[in-house]
Amino acid sequence: MLMLTDNERLILNELAVAATPLSKRDITQRCGMGWATAVKLMTRMEEQGVIVSSGNERQNQAGKSAMVYALSSTKPAAVGIDVEYSRARVNIRNLSRECLFESELSTPQFKNVADLTAFLERLLRQAAQKAAKLGITLEGGGVGVPSHLFGREGVPFAGIAKDLAARVGMPITVDNNIRCFTAAIASLPAAPSSLLVVTIRSGIGVGIVMDGRIYQGERGCSGEIGHFPVERNGVLCRCGKTGCLETVVNRETLAAELAAATDGDKVSQKKVKAAAELLGRAVATMMLVLDIRHVAIYAELGEAGQQLLVPIRETIEKTVNPGFDCDVRYETLDAEAYVAGAARLVLDEFVRR
Ligand SMILES: [Zn+2]
Repeated sequence: MLMLTDNERLILNELAVAATPLSKRDITQRCGMGWATAVKLMTRMEEQGVIVSSGNERQNQAGKSAMVYALSSTKPAAVGIDVEYSRARVNIRNLSRECLFESELSTPQFKNVADLTAFLERLLRQAAQKAAKLGITLEGGGVGVPSHLFGREGVPFAGIAKDLAARVGMPITVDNNIRCFTAAIASLPAAPSSLLVVTIRSGIGVGIVMDGRIYQGERGCSGEIGHFPVERNGVLCRCGKTGCLETVVNRETLAAELAAATDGDKVSQKKVKAAAELLGRAVATMMLVLDIRHVAIYAELGEAGQQLLVPIRETIEKTVNPGFDCDVRYETLDAEAYVAGAARLVLDEFVRR
C-alpha cells in the first residue's frame, strides 16, 4: 500500500485544489516549504507514480520556463460503493475527483449482516479485477450503507469493514451514506474546514465536518437531528419513536407543498415556512453546540426547493447568538456525491489540508 509523508500529502492536496499543473516553484509557495525539500519530495513522488510531469513547460514571471506537474490519474485510486435501499453503485475514483469506472445494480434483499458482507465482497472483488485490467492499483474501498438497512438495530460499520478488509486484502471503510456524501462535499476546493452538511431526502441527514475531519460519533450515529421529536402524537418513525423531525420534514411531505406554494397557495406557503422553521431550529442548535457557522443544505426538491432557503436562514439567524455570522447555502442534491464520497473515505488519507 502507498505510504506518504505529511508533506507529500500536502503537495497532493495543493495539486488537487489547484486543478491545474503546478511547477516546483508553485509548490514551494503554496505549501510553504523550502526549494530543496520540494525538489526531493517531488522527485520521490514522481518515482512512486503519484504525480506526473505534464510535459508542458510554462514560462514563469522571470521569463524562464519551468516543468509543471499534475496528479496521476490512476494513483492513488479507490473503490467507492453506495448501497441504497433499491440501487447499489460502484465507482473507481482518483484524487482529481474523476470517475475511472462505474457500474450500477439492484440492491438485493439482505436477511442479515452476513448477506450484506457477502454482497459487498463480490462488488469489491469485481472492482479489483476491473482495476487490474485498467492498470490501476487500488488503495482501498469505501462503502456507504443506510444506518437503518436492517430496521431499528444499526448496521455494525466497523465490524463489516474489518471482515471485508480481511477477505479482499485491502483497507476498507464502511460508514453511513450521509458521511460519504459529506466527504464528497468536504473535498471540494472551496469547502470550509468546519461545516454542517444537511440532506433532505426520505429522511434528514447531517454530516459534521470539524477542523477538516468528519465526526462519526461514539456509535457511528452523529448528526441524527432527523430523529429529534417535534410533534406530540405524531406518526411512527423508522427509528421506532413518533413525531420525529424527519416524519414532518422530508422530500415526500415537502414536494407537494412546494409545488402548491409556487402556484400561490397560501396554506401550502405556511406549511413550507413551518417546515423550514422546524429544520432551521434543529440545525441552529447543532451550530450553537458545535460552534460551526457554515451550513450547506442539499435537497432532492428541484428548483422549488429554493423557497426553503430564506425561512431556514432567517430561523437560524434568529436562533443562534447575535454576531454568529452564519453562512447558509442551499443546493439541489446530486446523488453522484454519495458514491464519489464513499471512495473519498479512502482517498482522504492521501491528502492533508
Ligand atoms: Zn425517528
